[in-house]
Amino acid sequence: MIRVSKSSGIPASLTTTRAYDGEDVKRQLLQDQHDKCYICERVGVTDFEIEHRRSKECCPELRQDWNNLFLSCRYCNGKKLQNFDNTLDPLSVNIEDEIEQNIDYENKKAVFIPKNVTESHSETVKLLDRVFNGTGNLRKIKEERFFEYFLSVMNRFQGLLINYLGDATLDNENAVRDELAIDKEFLGFKYWVIKNNTFLEATFGNCIIWNKA
Ligand SMILES: [Zn+2]
Repeated sequence: MIRVSKSSGIPASLTTTRAYDGEDVKRQLLQDQHDKCYICERVGVTDFEIEHRRSKECCPELRQDWNNLFLSCRYCNGKKLQNFDNTLDPLSVNIEDEIEQNIDYENKKAVFIPKNVTESHSETVKLLDRVFNGTGNLRKIKEERFFEYFLSVMNRFQGLLINYLGDATLDNENAVRDELAIDKEFLGFKYWVIKNNTFLEATFGNCIIWNKA
């Protein structure tokens, strides 16, 4: 999960109709979020939904508030529902700085370390933990498939880093840069791989600024 930057133009249907999920809203969110779910950062899912960061149940007055609407995949929306109304706001917070996002390969788990102690930080960590690690002790089939896909993308990224570290050609460097572009998946995790390695940060630090203000 990373910071999100949204266009300032409010889609017309939010002010001219009672709907929050008009086609213009979906189209603008897809464009602003580079086709990614704002929670899991997967690209191009067809089962996207309009997600209320602060749920309709908790804050009915924000039902059509442009800054409260995000695009999420059905998988993440189903985990969030109205159980998480106080997550960090990706429009104003650099989530990638506020929450360290790593993989514990030995235990096959994603690990989230909040950098501040607030209710919003712990709630965001709890949500990400549910999305990446599942809700029970053992992952259900959908959760397992999600995690396997996540690992495959991250393994590919690690492979490109190993190529670059072994042979720092321009081609190998550009292959890594490509994977750090704003429209690529799981940037919150890739960010910490780069950040936790001084050598990699010196080379690629300038491509991990994304939506920062
Ligand atoms: Zn998602």
